[in-house]
Amino acid sequence: MSKIMAVNAGSSSLKYQLLDMPSANVLCSGVIERIGLEDSIFNIEINGEKHKDILDIENHEKAVNLVLEALTKYNVVKSLDEIDGVGHRCVHGGEKFASSVVLDDEVSKTMEELSDLAPLHNPANLIGYHAFKKALANVGHVAVFDTAFHQTMEADTFVYPIPYEFYKEYGVRKYGFHGTSHLYVSERCIDLLGNPSSSKIITCHLGNGASLAAIKNGKSINTSMGLTPLAGVMMGTRSGDIDPAIITFLMDKTGKTAYEITDILNKESGMLGVSGISSDARDIEDGYNAGDERAKLTVEIYINRIVDTIGSYFVKLGGLDAIVFTAGLGENSISFREMICEKLTDALGVKLDKERNNVRGKETLISADDSKVKVYLIPTNEELVIAQDTMKLLNLK
Ligand code: AMP
Repeated sequence: MSKIMAVNAGSSSLKYQLLDMPSANVLCSGVIERIGLEDSIFNIEINGEKHKDILDIENHEKAVNLVLEALTKYNVVKSLDEIDGVGHRCVHGGEKFASSVVLDDEVSKTMEELSDLAPLHNPANLIGYHAFKKALANVGHVAVFDTAFHQTMEADTFVYPIPYEFYKEYGVRKYGFHGTSHLYVSERCIDLLGNPSSSKIITCHLGNGASLAAIKNGKSINTSMGLTPLAGVMMGTRSGDIDPAIITFLMDKTGKTAYEITDILNKESGMLGVSGISSDARDIEDGYNAGDERAKLTVEIYINRIVDTIGSYFVKLGGLDAIVFTAGLGENSISFREMICEKLTDALGVKLDKERNNVRGKETLISADDSKVKVYLIPTNEELVIAQDTMKLLNLK
């Protein structure tokens, strides 16, 4: 048995989960927010019991030390020697990493070189690594990349139709993200399908960020995000795909820079931008039910973009055995799932069972028995994949 810390370090946050492996029992979990700002928020949850503190946490090193102190303070472990490995969620592995790797100084350097592709994320992931490495010097570390699962896409899918030199010189291509989540839920789905020798699955990771993936025989053959997580379907605050010329058009009209417009596409678009209400699907649903026209339009665009993507992946896969819904919205919104599947009924014979779909956050079949495609709700578990890869790469039992 091993205890593995799964870490997701952001620029001002640190999410963590300590898992007992291989049972996957979660010993504690939590998130530290507003690192570097005044009034940082420290959270830890142990067996359903939550503790929250407002503290000044000036950097990730201090945040990591607070997490480790809390482990002994709340008797999660008797000593920090009990921790056998640390797995780090890393956003961009570029073309260098098609699977998880032991995270050492050389890998850390390569990740730094890839920071151009994920300037907000890779440096933050590395800050988390260095902080944990300092605090737990004798423990092995593993990097689990969000992009790795999609490295099986072929060139006709990942090369953009722009001058080829941009791909060769700058690495401009489709990478895709949420790979750990798409991997986890597709593996669970294949299991639920009875481990057939071949399978065609579309996974819909619908959270604040959202992406879909087409998965053939367990391998990603297309996904909706691109060079960055701004591409693809509509999201909470991100536009997803738009005509690229909109950027220069808006620069001319508003006098804003390309960076400012891109910031708007990342932070003020999507559900928030269209509705003018919120980036949260719950608020949009409330507006929709109250008859707000823009909330209605927001829902319609959101559903259309997902259905269009599913349609094109259906063709690419050459058929479809199952659709999977996961992440915050996918796991919890009964009505969004229903509206998406209704639009797929005529073309693909997808039929939800209303009773089965009346569920949140539980792994279950939600399609009707006569649906031509099975539909599953599968809660994602990226931490488990991180812990499993950490065990494997550090040769732990
Ligand atoms: P995530 O990024 O996976 O944590 O997902 C967060 C998003 O899930 C929120 O911004 C909401 O849009 C959505 N969400 C969470 N709970 C619900 C719910 N009960 N109904 C609809 N959407 C939800």
